[in-house]
Amino acid sequence: MARYTGPVCRLCRREGAKLFLKGERCYTGKCAVDRRTYAPGQHGQGRKKVSEYGIQLREKQKARRIYGMLEGQFRTTFQKASRQQGSAGDNLLRLLERRLDNVVFRLGFARSRNEARQFVLHNHFTLNGHKVNIPSIRLRAGDVIQLKEKSKDMPLFKEILDGLGQKTPPAWLELDVNQLCGRVAQLPNREDIDTNIQEHLIVELYSR
Ligand code: SF4
Repeated sequence: MARYTGPVCRLCRREGAKLFLKGERCYTGKCAVDRRTYAPGQHGQGRKKVSEYGIQLREKQKARRIYGMLEGQFRTTFQKASRQQGSAGDNLLRLLERRLDNVVFRLGFARSRNEARQFVLHNHFTLNGHKVNIPSIRLRAGDVIQLKEKSKDMPLFKEILDGLGQKTPPAWLELDVNQLCGRVAQLPNREDIDTNIQEHLIVELYSR
């Protein structure tokens, strides 16, 4: 699956919000959103009035960019969410959270979702003991991901593993620092998801 490979800080500036796409840098004074509070491009400091459709579109784009997805994949996920029982918006966020790359990030095995995606693609993790390299795989309750034995000694992981466990994972995930693995204890509820997204705007957009 293709993905956006351009400058990611530009995406945050477009949305006017921190999307935390670059790991540690996002928490420093180097963050582009803090330094330039206007949208990128020639007209970034120009027109300010945004229509209702524009607000809904921006919210959808924000969610899509946070989880690193292309439009088609995001829309398909929304369609699945709307077929499920309950609120389509809640279901959408819960489906997005269960992506393998997001779980790797949430557990602290990567500093950003982009990095997590890269680690998964490069076969650094197993899922329930089996090889896996598909970042969009949706995990189920009871699934276990583990960092491969041969990967844990790589310089790439040194800094990450040194800090592993310092951030508490969300309640629906369990982290075992000694075994370098994580388990989906239960499926996430909306209140477990701290991503700054107003999902009702996305539902309104796709319901037009
Ligand atoms: Fe976004 Fe992080 Fe870049 Fe700031 S540093 S603009 S939060 S990707």
